[in-house]
Amino acid sequence: MAESKRDYYEVLGVGRDADDAAIKKAYRVLAKKYHPDMNPGDAEAEKKFKEASEAYAVLSDPDKRRQYDQFGHAAFEGGAGGAGGFGGFDFNGADFSDIFGDIFGDLFGGGRRSGRAGNGPMRGANIRKSIRITFEEAVFGCEKELDLILKDPCESCHGTGAKPGTTPETCPKCGGKGQVVYTSQSFFGTVQNVQTCPNCGGSGKVIKERCPSCSGTGYTSSRKKIKVTIPAGIDNGQSVRIRDKGEPGANGGPRGDLLVEVNVSRHPIFQRQDVHIFSTVPISFAQAALGGDVRIPTVDGDVLYTVKPGTKTDTKVRLKGKGVPSLRNSQVRGDHYVTLVIQTPEKLSQEAKEALRRFDELTGNTLHQNEAVSEKNEKKPKKKGFMDKVKEAFEE
Ligand SMILES: [Zn+2]
Ligand SMILES: [Zn+2]
Repeated sequence: MAESKRDYYEVLGVGRDADDAAIKKAYRVLAKKYHPDMNPGDAEAEKKFKEASEAYAVLSDPDKRRQYDQFGHAAFEGGAGGAGGFGGFDFNGADFSDIFGDIFGDLFGGGRRSGRAGNGPMRGANIRKSIRITFEEAVFGCEKELDLILKDPCESCHGTGAKPGTTPETCPKCGGKGQVVYTSQSFFGTVQNVQTCPNCGGSGKVIKERCPSCSGTGYTSSRKKIKVTIPAGIDNGQSVRIRDKGEPGANGGPRGDLLVEVNVSRHPIFQRQDVHIFSTVPISFAQAALGGDVRIPTVDGDVLYTVKPGTKTDTKVRLKGKGVPSLRNSQVRGDHYVTLVIQTPEKLSQEAKEALRRFDELTGNTLHQNEAVSEKNEKKPKKKGFMDKVKEAFEE
């Protein structure tokens, strides 16, 4: 198994002598790029994220790093010289909270670090929705409206859930901590088990008289229209984050975010890969032979393209800058690649048939080709192919 694993330094893209700051910096970049929140449903990104996180967990810990430098991956597998076998990988000891605080601070403008369960401020949960847009809307961006039911802190009780004029009281069961500790005896000694307080649900407070407007929940729900700005260049499966449109926070914590997953409908003629568009355009045999103008549909409208005389089928044409704008910089656009495919006519009028027969007579294509092939074969009688054998059979 160890062989299939990439070197941790290689994963993070740092040298073996990289210092802590360099390792942290490299991981930040990767974690930001591949974080599942930024790549919903992308298994490859998730894999990369896990790989980078594992590398960081080891290289950011001086002891583990020393073991890794000495024994490689074997240090963490129960093999010879190993530091003892963990079954799966052990992330204990690595400080991710710090780095994710940083990353999400960068990405989403802060407010991500939430308090512990209990009575500290807690950030509200994110809400996930999806939206369907057309191919063109994804290319050029669009504005959509989402209809959803959002919770807001109750105006009567300001989110406390207590009847106006009363205040919630400190929970007697947990003393306001929101957590209760159970101890039990086991084979290994006394085991402490921390659980969310069942009496107050972790808030640390209990309500004696409920607010009539919100029945004590502290929230009211209402239907809201949320404007979603879809940036040009968005691809199928990517999400747009709308800050502070998620669930309200608790105990004064910030709201969560609304994550809108974008599903892009297929286009009848265009296919997309990253920022490039691909399509196939049929041309007639006469156009291919003689050259001439063909109309190529693009997302910017039809483009007139001059086919060169003697064009072969499957000729690729690149229409520069007719692709999809880059999400990072909408001024930069990909290209549109067109495959010109010569159409063989299937339904022919009598007149057209005669013209084609006449064409064959004039060019004598088939006959000349056969002669050329048999001459070549006589000069180089290397190996007899299947067709040669067939020919011989007929010649005898
Ligand atoms: Zn209320
Ligand atoms: Zn309690």
